[in-house]
Amino acid sequence: CGIVGYIGHRDAYPVIIKGLQRLEYRGYDSAGVTLFDGENIHLAKTKGKVEDLKYKAETSIPTKGKLGLGHTRWATHGVPNDVNSHPHYSNSGDLVIIHNGIIENYGSIKQALIKRGYTFESDTDTEVLINLIEEVKKKEGVKLGHAVQIALNQVVGAYAIAVFDKNKPDEIVVAKLGSPLAIGIGENEYFIASDASPFIEFTNNAVYLEDEEMAIVRIGKEIKLRKIKDDSIA
Ligand code: GLU
Repeated sequence: CGIVGYIGHRDAYPVIIKGLQRLEYRGYDSAGVTLFDGENIHLAKTKGKVEDLKYKAETSIPTKGKLGLGHTRWATHGVPNDVNSHPHYSNSGDLVIIHNGIIENYGSIKQALIKRGYTFESDTDTEVLINLIEEVKKKEGVKLGHAVQIALNQVVGAYAIAVFDKNKPDEIVVAKLGSPLAIGIGENEYFIASDASPFIEFTNNAVYLEDEEMAIVRIGKEIKLRKIKDDSIA
């Protein structure tokens, strides 16, 4: 399983597809990609190989945009099918997530969210996490980075995640516990991936997140690294 993300001045799609191919060795059963074209987010995902995803994306969505996330899934919660494939959206449709790992206490969080009116399309633990982030963001009135941090302090499990908000498309929030996550730093561009192989041809400047670390990756800014358990983020 693997994750790839891009934010910068290039077309994200070829970077993501090539990156997912380089991560195929990690094993997976499904793949997906989401792209923000400046106005809307477009999603293609499928059970099968990155090659199948490529076909689906190129025949069903505009593969344009300078911000994107890609994922190869190794199913843990919910069978391998198109709906359970990542990326997943929050109920509002604003937040997007890719996730490698397992949220162990997703069941109780899901029940609490259902009581608050949330609905779920997939059987994944990941869709629960993105809606928890959305709920925290609304309830606490905090920025995305802070909402991700508060939400992650409520979950038990392992993860490498990347999240963005389509209303704030200059930023990707990433976090890691147990699963690997690297950030490649280019000139006015950032790459996110499970290892450096997807971005090695673009930059050799990389930061590897430690366990329980998160980062706010924003265009035109230095990466902000934070401890997930530290409450000083804003
Ligand atoms: N637990 C998540 C799922 O089943 C992520 C699996 C993965 O690591 O790819 O969808």
